[in-house]
Amino acid sequence: QAHLDRIAAVDGDVHAFLHVSDHALDVAADIDRRRAAGEQLGDLAGVPLAIKDVLVTTDMPSTSGSKILEGFLSPYDATVVARVRAAGLVPLGKTNMDEFAMGSSTEHSAYGPTHNPWDLDRIPGGSGGGSAAAVAAFEAPIALGSDTGGSIRQPAHVTGTVGLKPTYGGVSRFGAIALASSLDQVGPVSRTVLDSALLHDVIGGHDPHDSTSLTDAWPSFAAAAREGARGDVLKGLKVGVIRELPDSGFQAGVSASFRASLALLEAQGAEIVEISAPHFEYGVAAYYLILPAEASSNLAKFDSVRFGLRVDVPGGTVEDVMARSRDLGFGDEVKRRIILGTYALSAGYYDAYYGSAQKVRTLIQRDFDDAFAQVDVIATPSAPTTAFRLGEKIDDPLQMYLNDITTIPVNLAGVPGISIPSGLAAEDGLPVGIQFVAPAREDARLYRVGAALE
Ligand code: GLN
Repeated sequence: QAHLDRIAAVDGDVHAFLHVSDHALDVAADIDRRRAAGEQLGDLAGVPLAIKDVLVTTDMPSTSGSKILEGFLSPYDATVVARVRAAGLVPLGKTNMDEFAMGSSTEHSAYGPTHNPWDLDRIPGGSGGGSAAAVAAFEAPIALGSDTGGSIRQPAHVTGTVGLKPTYGGVSRFGAIALASSLDQVGPVSRTVLDSALLHDVIGGHDPHDSTSLTDAWPSFAAAAREGARGDVLKGLKVGVIRELPDSGFQAGVSASFRASLALLEAQGAEIVEISAPHFEYGVAAYYLILPAEASSNLAKFDSVRFGLRVDVPGGTVEDVMARSRDLGFGDEVKRRIILGTYALSAGYYDAYYGSAQKVRTLIQRDFDDAFAQVDVIATPSAPTTAFRLGEKIDDPLQMYLNDITTIPVNLAGVPGISIPSGLAAEDGLPVGIQFVAPAREDARLYRVGAALE
C-alpha cells in the first residue's frame, strides 16, 4: 500500500509506470496467507517489484513502449515473471521504456518520456528509464530491466541506482520481447547491491524455453554480496583500467568520480592495472550494424496480422494494411533501425557491413579474454555524462548512441557488467556510476566487488 501511495503521489511527475497493477494488494494478501499456512517462502516474498514493459505478463498489458502493441495481453508470462511470482514478489506495474528498448533516454517511448527523480527536467537514462526512475523515486524497492547495450547500467548511472547485466545466457530471455537476440539479457535494478543479487538469485538459472540459456549451476549471488559487504575482498584484487578509453568525451565530474573510486579501491588493497583493449572503441560502430540487423528481423513479426495494431485501408491489399499499420505503429527510431538493419543485411552489402561488424565483435571478445588473463575485473565509468536534459539529444541519434560507449562492448562480448553509484558530479550534483566487468559466468564476482565498494 505504501508503494501504491507513493506511485499515486509522484508518478504524475516522474511517469515511471505505463501501467499500475489493480490487484497488487490481493497478491500481497495471498502471500501473507501462504506464509501463515507455513509455506517456506524466499527472502523476497512480499517485496513489491516493478517490471519493465519489455517483459510479457498475463495480467497486465505489455507494449514494449510501442503503439503497435497498445493494450496487448500476453497469453503467457515471461520466465523471469513466472519466477518472481513463484518467489512471492508482488508486481506493482509495468515500467516505461524507449520503444522496443531502442534508446538511452526513454524519450523514444510512444507513451511520453520518464523524468529523472533527481531533476525532473532531465532524462532517467534508457531504455529502462522507467525501472530505474521507479527505484530511485522510491515507487518500487526493486525492478526488472533488460540490457542490450546498456539499458540497465546507463539508467542506473544517471539515477544513482544499482543495475547488473548478467552473463549472456545466465537469465532466461523467454517472454522478453526481443530487440537483438544475441545481445539481450534481463537483469535486476535496485538501490543496493545485495537487493540486485537477491533478485538475480530468483530470476537466474537454466530455462528450457530459451535455447541460449546456460545449464550452469550458479552460486548464490546474495551470498557473494554479503561476503563482499563483510570483508576484505578488495585486498589483492586486480582491477583493469583501459588505456585506450579516451579521456575526452567524459564529463569532468564523471572522470573525477571514477578516479576517486579507483583511489578508494587502492586504499582498500586493490591493485590498479593498466590494460589494453584496442578494439573497445569500435564497439559502438559494430553494435549499430549488428543490433539493427537483428532488430529488423525480430520486428518483422509485427505485421498487423499476428500481433497488435491493424489499421484498415478501405479497398487496400494485405500489403497496404501491413505498410499502413507499421507506418503508424512504429516510431521514428524504430523505423531508422529497421531501415539500417535491412540495408546492412541486403545482398551485396552483407559482407561489407554485417560481416565486418561480426569480425569486430570477435576482436572485442579477444580483447576481453586478453585482459582477463591479467586482471580480475575491469573498471570503467558507466557512461560519459550525468543525466542530460530532456530534448537535448533527441534530434541527434549519433550523440544518443555514444552514451553507451562503455556499456556496449560488454554486451558484444557476452560478459557480465554492473553499475553501482560512485558519487555525485561536482559541477551539477547529479549521480555518477562506476561499471565493473567480469569474465563470463563470474557474475558473483561483481556482486562481491560491488558490495565491498558500496
Ligand atoms: N541505448 C542502446 C540502444 O539504443 C542500448 C539499448 C538497450 O540496452 N536496450 O540500443
